[in-house]
Amino acid sequence: MIDLMEQDQTYVANTYARFPLTLTRGEGAVAYDDTGKAYIDMGSGIGVTAFGYRDREWTDAVKAQLELLQHASNLYYTQPCAQLAQMLCQRTGMKKVFFSNSGAEANECAIKTARKWAAEKKGPDCQTIITLVNSFHGRTITALAATGQDAYHRHFQPLTPGFLHTPAGDFAALEQLVKEHQVAGILLECVQGEGGVMALDPDFLRRTAALCRQEDILLMIDEVQTGNGRTGKLYSYMHYGVQPDIVSTAKGLGGGLPLGATLLGEKVEHTLGRGDHGSTFGGNPVCCAGAVNILSRLDDAFLEQVAAKGRRIREVLEQAEGVEAVTGLGLMVGVKTTKPVAQVIARCREQGVLCLSAKDKLRLLPPLSIPEPLLEQALEVIREACRMT
Ligand SMILES: *Cc1c(COP(=O)(O)O)cnc(C)c1O
Repeated sequence: MIDLMEQDQTYVANTYARFPLTLTRGEGAVAYDDTGKAYIDMGSGIGVTAFGYRDREWTDAVKAQLELLQHASNLYYTQPCAQLAQMLCQRTGMKKVFFSNSGAEANECAIKTARKWAAEKKGPDCQTIITLVNSFHGRTITALAATGQDAYHRHFQPLTPGFLHTPAGDFAALEQLVKEHQVAGILLECVQGEGGVMALDPDFLRRTAALCRQEDILLMIDEVQTGNGRTGKLYSYMHYGVQPDIVSTAKGLGGGLPLGATLLGEKVEHTLGRGDHGSTFGGNPVCCAGAVNILSRLDDAFLEQVAAKGRRIREVLEQAEGVEAVTGLGLMVGVKTTKPVAQVIARCREQGVLCLSAKDKLRLLPPLSIPEPLLEQALEVIREACRMT
């Protein structure tokens, strides 16, 4: 008998610190390990399985497309790709969509678009893109350059030039950078995910958006983690009353299949022309068919339930012993615990609840569709794990 963990550790690149757990199947908000033990999933992968595992409607939509056509290169039209692009535009007011396969790629497209737009509109020296300290934008060399965390940069120099990082919330510092550099765009997450589940100050974001308009700078929002209903609105920028020029998204969009999207607003809708960008797998019809199903179910009533579940998590955990602070928005929740977060996560896992971390915080990203009784059950386990010494 092959020991699966040993096989994995021997042959899979050593880039992940995996939990000692092998998942074999899932059903809604519950995952099962290879012994048949059930776990309530408070991570959705990492914010991916928006409607849980093998959700009936999503699975049917995916299967139906799989039985028709699994792939068709971007030399041809396919119905799910066109339909999804239209839905994304109609729900956001954006004008066009470029499809890829991941968050990093969605940001790459955003950055390429900004660079070309600025070079054409403002001159070839206008190349700088400002991002925030503590941000996370992905793992490619350019997305790493955008990411405002030095820890991820070590060992990988030289990164793509032209990125500057400024502290979230410090508008004066941002304004200063804009004065001193030729800035093409400002890229930010409304709620920093990997950075510790920190929501941006609304005043900071509104002033940033106003500055972008005034100086003709692109406002680019990274909705890879916050998007597709996660925060209780379709996209997190909708909480803030700003209109971005470019939105990147991925994670929850495909409901578990790889799909990235870069939404292009009026200013940049014609920036990318034939041959400027591409992706072999981008816009895969099976992934898009799944996403069409996800998006069609994220209506106002559903999003209100997401927000209500988020409020319920806060209500329980803010009162809990061993909890110092609760941060985030909607069903994207950060919990600062007194105990080391690794211990809390391990305890939760023993008790049948899967949780994530972000920096030194517990991070909760349950399926948006998690039934209330399961949510209550998971919260009871988490509360207990935070309290235990
Ligand atoms: C996860 C994440 C990314 C990277 O997405 P990948 O699909 O892993 O490339 C980028 N930005 C944010 C905000 C993320 O949370």
